[in-house]
Amino acid sequence: MVLVYRYRVKSLNGLLNQQAGKVNFVWNYCNDRQKDALRFCRPWLTGFDLNKLTAGSSKELELHSGTINAVCEQFARSRAQHHRPYLRYRGCKSLGWVPLKGRDLHRAGDAFRFAGNTFRVFYSRALPEGKIKDGTCFAQDSRGNWFLNIVIELAELPARPLVHGVGIDLGLKDLAVLSNEERIAAPGFYRKAEMALAAAQRAHKKRRIRAIHARTARQRMDMLHNRSAELARAFDHIAVGNINASGLAQTSLAKSVLDAGWSTFRKMLAYKALRHGARYVEVDERFTTQTCSNCGALPDSRPKGIAGLGIREWTCSDCDQVHDRDVNAAINILRRGRATLEAGIPILSEVMGRTSNEGSIPTVRCRHWQ
Ligand SMILES: [Zn+2]
Repeated sequence: MVLVYRYRVKSLNGLLNQQAGKVNFVWNYCNDRQKDALRFCRPWLTGFDLNKLTAGSSKELELHSGTINAVCEQFARSRAQHHRPYLRYRGCKSLGWVPLKGRDLHRAGDAFRFAGNTFRVFYSRALPEGKIKDGTCFAQDSRGNWFLNIVIELAELPARPLVHGVGIDLGLKDLAVLSNEERIAAPGFYRKAEMALAAAQRAHKKRRIRAIHARTARQRMDMLHNRSAELARAFDHIAVGNINASGLAQTSLAKSVLDAGWSTFRKMLAYKALRHGARYVEVDERFTTQTCSNCGALPDSRPKGIAGLGIREWTCSDCDQVHDRDVNAAINILRRGRATLEAGIPILSEVMGRTSNEGSIPTVRCRHWQ
């Protein structure tokens, strides 16, 4: 299992600022060579080719050779990933970024050694034993603070037997309603900060605006991390509805949807479940609100259509069970999740791998074959 640990860097921020400029130089060089390739109809340069072209520049640039290699390889990867012939130039407005090879970063107590320098960090949590991998980088946030992101490979835990499960219905009023009738309130951090943000925006206080945005994001992440970790520890399997967050984010509900952080919450649940030996599954949400979780029927009294949106509580006309709308949905989600797991598509990494691949491949195939 590969995880990223993030530490705020305490020392040598000036050095990192300098190096970020040189990284941009290398990046822009790669982009120039790519444009040359386009202009003269030459084959596109791979990360390997770019590495060869930049070989030997380490001393002159005063940049670690591993960093130069990582920049070249990332350039080629980004180009492929975004399906672009060339990419944007990096300039003084880009957030600082200094990538490095995992093998070049060494632990030194609560600090880290890289390229002959010791970077002290706020060691907020211990870095577990494991191999530090490529993809590790120093990165700057919008406020100019530097962070060290360490990509580390950890041993996977064996999956726990499926005993206690939980179904999660994501919503806007409550962030999540669990099948055991617990509710996780939607904190609405952005809504709370809106007044202060508006005042700062009217006064054109850029630093203040950035600080408010950063605080909102930090509060939201903290809450999501805590809640998802609790769930992953407490339950053996977790089922979540596949509600389409990015689709809803384009509607008038956008602010609330993004503020709730559904997608982030699901991603956190997925990797934290793996980490604690639990299983995570996303299930089809359709009709989970309308189906009675007691008798499994679609009764006439169910909340349906636009008119049903406001109904919080309803009684099944088939079995007379009184349902809380969201808890009923969560129970249905739990049941579907359990059925999926028992049917033998249980492994999260497989599920995740497949969905991430499906996003890109079929569109290309359809175009070619039809
Ligand atoms: Zn019923």
